[in-house]
Amino acid sequence: MSEEMKMSPEEMEKRLKMVESACICKGCPSYTALGKEDDYIAYCFPTRGESKNISDEKGCICGTCPVYAEMDFITAYYCTRSIEMKQKEAIAEALWKGHSVWDHLKRRR
Ligand code: SF4
Ligand code: SF4
Repeated sequence: MSEEMKMSPEEMEKRLKMVESACICKGCPSYTALGKEDDYIAYCFPTRGESKNISDEKGCICGTCPVYAEMDFITAYYCTRSIEMKQKEAIAEALWKGHSVWDHLKRRR
């Protein structure tokens, strides 16, 4: 069980606020949600995930975010491909099925 899942709702909320304050999504070329309904950030957070507004992948700057380093993330585009854990599951599934990992991730969007 991940650390997030063991947290109380209050701890999760506190952690989300920390992630939001460090998040650099609003400076990203793919970020188009500003001012729209559901224009949240911190897409990598377990209770967030994919954006309802962002669909075009025009670059992802998550790799330069302090949260990315702290969490030892290896994937990207949390706003379009969902959180790290789900992307890793998709990658594992693709490998088992002998599919292209890239095609598999795109199909799940
Ligand atoms: S890793 Fe990406 S989605 Fe997560 S807080 Fe940083 S910039 Fe935002
Ligand atoms: S998750 Fe990555 S691609 Fe999406 S807005 Fe944030 S930095 Fe940009």
